[in-house]
Amino acid sequence: MHELGVTESIAGIVLRHAEMNGARRVIKVNIKLGELTGIVDHYVSFYWDLVTRDTIAQGAELNFTKVPVVAYCNKCREEFRIQEYDLTCPRCGELASDIISGREFMVESIEIE
Ligand SMILES: [Zn+2]
Repeated sequence: MHELGVTESIAGIVLRHAEMNGARRVIKVNIKLGELTGIVDHYVSFYWDLVTRDTIAQGAELNFTKVPVVAYCNKCREEFRIQEYDLTCPRCGELASDIISGREFMVESIEIE
């Protein structure tokens, strides 16, 4: 479980940007979360309340956008979504050459007042 560490990182980013923009309060944080990260949004929300206690980000809503795992086939240049760990290309049957999305974990935007 590495959610505590990543939640602390996110809180640091959010607070830095909020302070730079003279925010009184952080209302909402939009986060991109790739399915490959193995990070569970429920735990991030849980730790968020702990790590932002007594900061201007306390009580902010976390909004997660899940990013599916997408792979690329070098042979036929097909991009396809990976489900159930199946890496075979649905078009030609080759194994995927690259994972092109699904590892994202980033703060996309924040809403402040
Ligand atoms: Zn293919």
